[in-house]
Amino acid sequence: MQQRGTQAAHNALLRLGKREEAWRKQSIHTVANEIVSEAVENECDVVVFEDLTDIRERLPYAKWHHVWAFRRLFEYVSYKAPERGVSVEQVEPDHTSQRCSRTDCGFTHKDNRHGEHFCCQKCGYEVNADYNSAKNIGIRYARNQRHKLRSSPTSGSGDAPVDVRINGGALNGESYRPIAGD
Ligand SMILES: [Zn+2]
Repeated sequence: MQQRGTQAAHNALLRLGKREEAWRKQSIHTVANEIVSEAVENECDVVVFEDLTDIRERLPYAKWHHVWAFRRLFEYVSYKAPERGVSVEQVEPDHTSQRCSRTDCGFTHKDNRHGEHFCCQKCGYEVNADYNSAKNIGIRYARNQRHKLRSSPTSGSGDAPVDVRINGGALNGESYRPIAGD
């Protein structure tokens, strides 16, 4: 249609682009709702994301619409979650995709990850790479929280447990109750 160069063709392309953008937005809304619902169903207080500030540098080969989608998803969850009593936090993203999320391991190396597949070069833990990253993000948040609790002179609850839940599994940074297939 672009090659034909008519005004009608141009308008049709514009409409297609808008429709595609609307479809993307709707998809991300759906995913955001699912994330918040899962958090509520599992009685989670917090949904944790990677800090997306430097995502362009960390994912140089990501398509612009992937980066756009990550940011949108974070925005949508950030305004939907508080309405249902869930807060949204971010953690430093460093090495979350390279680190082995098994709590008794934690070995970090770029060779651990091959595309969608994660295989720890030290302990042999094999799992979906995104799932491994998600566990690391949860673990990082839990550890940050414990550190805050311990270093707060007024809390007096330094050993308060911080549970991390992913896809119905749960871990608290020290131990991990695996889900089926993990
Ligand atoms: Zn490992």
